[in-house]
Amino acid sequence: MSANLKGLRFFIKTFGCQMNENDSEHVAGLLVEAGASKALSAEESDIILVNTCAVRKKSEEKIYSFLGRLSPLKKDGGKVIGVLGCVAQIRREELFKKRPEIDFIVGPDHYHELASLLSRKREGKLLKTSWNRAWHEIGSAQTLRESRGSAYVPIMEGCNNFCAYCVVPFGRGREKCRPMDSVREEVLDLAANGYGEIQLLGQNVNSYRDPGTGEDFAGLLRVVSRIEGIEWIRFITSHPKDLSPAIARTMSDRPNICRHLHLPLQSGSTAVLARMNRGYTREEYLEKVGLLKGLMPDIALSTDIIVGFPGETDADFEETLDILKKIEFVNMFSFRYSPRPQTAAAGIEDDIPLEVKRKRLIVLQDAQKEIQLARNRALIGKTFKVLCLGESKKGGGRYSGRNEGFQVVNFSSPRNVRDRFVDVLITGCGPYSLHGETLNGKTAA
Ligand code: SAM
Ligand code: SF4
Repeated sequence: MSANLKGLRFFIKTFGCQMNENDSEHVAGLLVEAGASKALSAEESDIILVNTCAVRKKSEEKIYSFLGRLSPLKKDGGKVIGVLGCVAQIRREELFKKRPEIDFIVGPDHYHELASLLSRKREGKLLKTSWNRAWHEIGSAQTLRESRGSAYVPIMEGCNNFCAYCVVPFGRGREKCRPMDSVREEVLDLAANGYGEIQLLGQNVNSYRDPGTGEDFAGLLRVVSRIEGIEWIRFITSHPKDLSPAIARTMSDRPNICRHLHLPLQSGSTAVLARMNRGYTREEYLEKVGLLKGLMPDIALSTDIIVGFPGETDADFEETLDILKKIEFVNMFSFRYSPRPQTAAAGIEDDIPLEVKRKRLIVLQDAQKEIQLARNRALIGKTFKVLCLGESKKGGGRYSGRNEGFQVVNFSSPRNVRDRFVDVLITGCGPYSLHGETLNGKTAA
């Protein structure tokens, strides 16, 4: 049955990571293809979709409170509310009981059929969360992108790693990889449409294998980096255990692969890493960083850290602090551990008191703040190529973008340079961003 949503307006609220943002762009593209149009707010729409994240307890709680706020909109009839993403996949029927305003629940393996599901006449509620081993191709033509400068390109879905704290393998299923030819075609299309940056996406991109040829991630990077017109290639997320010397060498050989790597450490203690089932030791992580810095001394590394994993001692935590000081990451995302359903760690006592977790997070963030401030101060007076992502919230000729190291750069420009590369002279900084001005408003060569 072909989907027909003519005359209907939809609104998507997205929580969570880049994968979710990309999924929302796919869903929006598919709904537009079926004749629907994008509304500016939930109030003005006929279909409200909430794309959810279950990675931390707090992320899930945010979803429930957002859904609660939608509840009054149901009163005037007409509107349908759907839940997508990891919370949909993990909680399933439970969600209908918790939030009666929900009409349908669709998991990540069924987005390709969402438009036709919505087109059908339906009595009662709809639940579609079964797993599907096939890769469902959703190409550029069905993707309604938010940006015209930077584009997400999914290369794989799901995860086989089962880190003890992580709900992702249950919300996203087992790993499946996109055929390399489809990735190449999408990137060619993006280059032809003027995109300057692409971000290859997957929960663990380093374990990518082309389903046809078995070609690995380094091979994919070589293919994609030969496509003319794409100036910056990024990829996320890398798993330290799967980051091979071949990937590091490909990064250093190709000038259009950004000198930036997000390499989640999680903990600096080998004992905690083992309990987390991360598959590497503190020393192995440091070795990989040594390899990367040896090949690319200017590489910008960022990371994720969890504090308060069960059994984490003060000495374990000190080891994490020590690694931060050794590596000097450009950026860090840090979280207090929270037990998640179905995970291995959910069966272990969450024995670190909230107060201790809070304190460790503050100490960690303060240490990282100091590192970032010192690093950023040393950049004053330098000029960076920056991809402008839009006007800054302050407006008034201020813009915001990212440099090659994925640092936020806020700058002034006499003209709108959204989605373009510009050269920015750094004139100031804070711990979390650089500030500057474009050189005569010229775009970078
Ligand atoms: N695949 C990526 C990886 O391997 O790091 C990202 C996984 S998750 C979407 C992003 C981050 O959330 C993780 O790197 C971890 O630091 C954090 N996280 C995941 N589960 C958590 C939990 N139960 N409690 C606190 N933080 C968690
Ligand atoms: Fe979660 Fe670990 Fe998979 Fe990342 S690698 S998604 S942290 S299970």
